[in-house]
Amino acid sequence: MVTIGVLALQGDVAEHMRALEESGARAVSVRRERELDGLDGLIIPGGESTAISNLLVSFGLYEPLKKRIDAGLPVWGTCAGMIMLASEILDGRADQKSFSAMDITVRRNAFGRQVDSYEEDLDVRGVEDGPFHAVFIRAPWVERIGEGVEVLARAGNDPAGPVVAVRSGVVMATSFHPEVGGDHRMHDLFVSMCQSR
Ligand code: GLN
Repeated sequence: MVTIGVLALQGDVAEHMRALEESGARAVSVRRERELDGLDGLIIPGGESTAISNLLVSFGLYEPLKKRIDAGLPVWGTCAGMIMLASEILDGRADQKSFSAMDITVRRNAFGRQVDSYEEDLDVRGVEDGPFHAVFIRAPWVERIGEGVEVLARAGNDPAGPVVAVRSGVVMATSFHPEVGGDHRMHDLFVSMCQSR
């Protein structure tokens, strides 16, 4: 059984932990450096990326976590978590940090101010048995993907639509909130990534 941490500074921590357990993993919440030890993977939940960036620094977690991600810890960022994994952020705050875990350019609040949130059934590469109901809340999207980054889903299931789910090796990022709605197939995918590293 793999042990997967959920960064517990902000966001839907309990929902991610429940989904991980339904996917057969042991889930632990992480807010101290020593809680990073022994993890087979980590989820960075949604919330507000500027706040998560500040909290990571003030909890002394930014550097130790960056070290582990650079050393190959599997990591999945959802919504604000996607922003935290990007190598480049558009419409960010100048001082906000990210882990540069994946060569992608992400635009914050990309779907526009008037569209606070929306939902749609998405075809996600690697998720079997039908579309995944995706909930987007002031979501980012991916504007540029670098070499080795695989597109898992696009908004509208449109081949020309904005990229909303990506994977590069053991790093995954999704614009939407997979923890709401009780469907744990995205968590199944991440658990299998953590098992096979
Ligand atoms: N708009 C948020 C940000 O920029 C992300 C929103 C979310 O995680 N639901 O960090």
